[in-house]
Amino acid sequence: MRLPASLTRIIAIANIVVITVAVIGLSLVPDDSRPHATPKDVATIEDAPAAQPPSPSPVGQPPGVVATPDFARQVGANEAGLVPVLMYHRIMAKRLASLDRTPAQLRKELERLAERGYVPITAREFVAGDIRVPAGKFPVVLTFDDGHPSHFGLDAGGNPLPGTAVAVIQEVAGRYPDFRPVATFWINGEPFGLRDRAAQESAVRWLVDHGFEVANHTWAHPNLRVLKRKKVSEQIVRLERLLRKLGAPPSETMALPYGSMPRTKKAARSGTWDGTRYDFAGVFLAGAEPSLSPYAKKFDRGAIQRIQSNGKKGECRRWCSQYWLEWLDKHPDERYVSDGDPRRISLPEKLRGNIVAKRGLQVIAY
Ligand SMILES: [Zn+2]
Repeated sequence: MRLPASLTRIIAIANIVVITVAVIGLSLVPDDSRPHATPKDVATIEDAPAAQPPSPSPVGQPPGVVATPDFARQVGANEAGLVPVLMYHRIMAKRLASLDRTPAQLRKELERLAERGYVPITAREFVAGDIRVPAGKFPVVLTFDDGHPSHFGLDAGGNPLPGTAVAVIQEVAGRYPDFRPVATFWINGEPFGLRDRAAQESAVRWLVDHGFEVANHTWAHPNLRVLKRKKVSEQIVRLERLLRKLGAPPSETMALPYGSMPRTKKAARSGTWDGTRYDFAGVFLAGAEPSLSPYAKKFDRGAIQRIQSNGKKGECRRWCSQYWLEWLDKHPDERYVSDGDPRRISLPEKLRGNIVAKRGLQVIAY
């Protein structure tokens, strides 16, 4: 393949590792996949983690690759596929409600995910389409509602309390190195049961510093369906102000208490109260099926599906995580499979019509 002159010039000044990666990648891109590398693309490739050693950080994004149609086909990439967004509530040694899971149940589910090739990303990364999962692997979003003490706490040494969700996630990640220890915590006005402001701040800062997302589940957990629009916005803004005081970045995501949508749907996603504005990139429901890919044309970021973590008893016969994770194993063609390249969206040609390419991400349809 003849390289454009501008590209040749830029490659000449790039280091040899980058040249190898870029040329191998670009030379396999067919002529119909324009635009070919522009200087901007080359700069991108130069910056890409493919040419760098893996990050030593436990939450570091895995190194990317430069996907090609052949490579995407080989790994079975399908970035138009379904993604499980798992919903957890309390993690209790003794379950009191059907929504509760024990630490052992959480551990077992996470180990199963790790063994099957799932890699956690946060809800924020998911809605942004910032899905950096190694080639051939599947993203999963772990979400915890209500900021319960069983989700997180720090011991006297400043480490996650044993048995909390964060401790279990870290244990599993310690045994499965591909399993990123990240999750999303949607909290209310008393995060993790902490009343003391300094303790709240330490908890939130620890989570944010370790790659976890802490975001908005409203101030007092009301049923938003029965509130006037102004009250909906007040509930969201009050929690948003707390998050900011505690050192969290502005929320990009929120989960609806009880999965209950306000009568004016868009009030959950954006609004203003008392001079403070919010505008989320994604609003999450409480159930009951895998989410569409964020690149899918039909993806509704104002009402994103989740799956309750649970076995297959009673109403969970068809709606909860055991059922759906088995279903995805039986329907591998429906599942989101990463191409390992965060800058390209790869999928089988027959699914090309299902997605919209955003923010200039290049599409590889094979
Ligand atoms: Zn809740």
